Amino acid sequence: MKPVNSVLSSYGTTIFEVMSRLAAEHGAVNLGQGFPEGLEPPALLQAASRAILEGSQQYPSMMGTPALRRAVADHAMRFYGLAVDPDREVMVTSGGTEALADCLFGLIEPGDEVVLIEPLYDSYLPIVRRAGGVARLVRLEPPDWRLPRAAFEAAFTEKTKLLILNTPMNPTGKVFDVEELAFIAGLLERFDAYCVCDEVYEHLIYDGRRHIPLIGLPGMRERCLRIGSAGKTFSLTGWKVGYVTACPALLQPVAKAHQYITFTTPPNLQQAVAEGLGSGDAYYQGLAGGLQARRDKLAKGLADIGFSVLPCVGSYFLTTDFRPLGFRGDDVEFCKHITTQAGVAAVPVSVFYQAGDVRHYARFCFAKKDDAIDEALIRLARYFGPPGA
Ligand code: PMP
Ligand code: GLN
Repeated sequence: MKPVNSVLSSYGTTIFEVMSRLAAEHGAVNLGQGFPEGLEPPALLQAASRAILEGSQQYPSMMGTPALRRAVADHAMRFYGLAVDPDREVMVTSGGTEALADCLFGLIEPGDEVVLIEPLYDSYLPIVRRAGGVARLVRLEPPDWRLPRAAFEAAFTEKTKLLILNTPMNPTGKVFDVEELAFIAGLLERFDAYCVCDEVYEHLIYDGRRHIPLIGLPGMRERCLRIGSAGKTFSLTGWKVGYVTACPALLQPVAKAHQYITFTTPPNLQQAVAEGLGSGDAYYQGLAGGLQARRDKLAKGLADIGFSVLPCVGSYFLTTDFRPLGFRGDDVEFCKHITTQAGVAAVPVSVFYQAGDVRHYARFCFAKKDDAIDEALIRLARYFGPPGA
């Protein structure tokens, strides 16, 4: 039999699926895979139900419904002062994951170099490779996840086609500040490169910080493709509604990928998300405020048990160093161990590095019901015993 595609078949099942299956098998509280629980806005569920019963069930416009494209453009102006043409600069996709794939397939020519920052989200590398791109990886290291400017600059060459930048960042909880963004913008200009800006966690940002989209910096409007996701902004990850915002010259090739991959996204869900994006400030503040309180509860609880908990200012993930607990194995062993033995699932951070060599950090998702966080902490405390015991 002829071999199947070698790039994709070289990857196993994603860790998110693996850990969620293990959690289900063992009745563990699942703080592994990043999906929220108990935060779904009722108004959006009602809007989607209404749109299913009363709206169209047929293919909507390939670029997205006019209402959602308009809502994405209005949201960009409202939060970031960005003027966006809803008819030429917005495309709706089936989740941020599809948006990423569309951008990469639409822009990369075989042999192009792509700069990626580790730890990185699991879909980036396989799609870059499948598109024929050559990955140039730059590492951020725990515990401070600082951007190593010299190494980052050295990753750019005249062959660099694009950078993928994720801020707020999964799994580190890092938010790139304006100096880092200005430095990045300078490199994109110097090397005539584009940036795929994965900003799905744009509203999950804490301690009074504000998200800064790179596309809003001087000179970046024609270089950046900004990706958002209703999955994160409205805690509806199963809906898979995302959006890309870019100037027409960049959006056109990306739309070519979209038209052959999914072509459209369910119209009823688009209608509900359009209504959601227009929510009042109380919604957005409530989302960030509620998650910040959960972050604090989980961080304190884990620290009391003996984990060393790294700071998190964005996303809904806490990275923890489990060495103070005295566990001898690596992070994959640790996450499997606590799932099966303590009844709490987490995700190993090594999977976000190509070399898999950052081996003693576990990622916990705090976008869960208070009860689930309390129960997870009780189970971990019971298993590991009081600190210092
Ligand atoms: N990028 C990052 C960094 C993510 O964590 C996620 C969420 N899993 C995505 C993209 C994909 O978003 P979506 O669920 O909308 O496809
Ligand atoms: N982004 C989520 C995470 O990092 C999950 C995405 C997925 O399951 N593919 O956990």
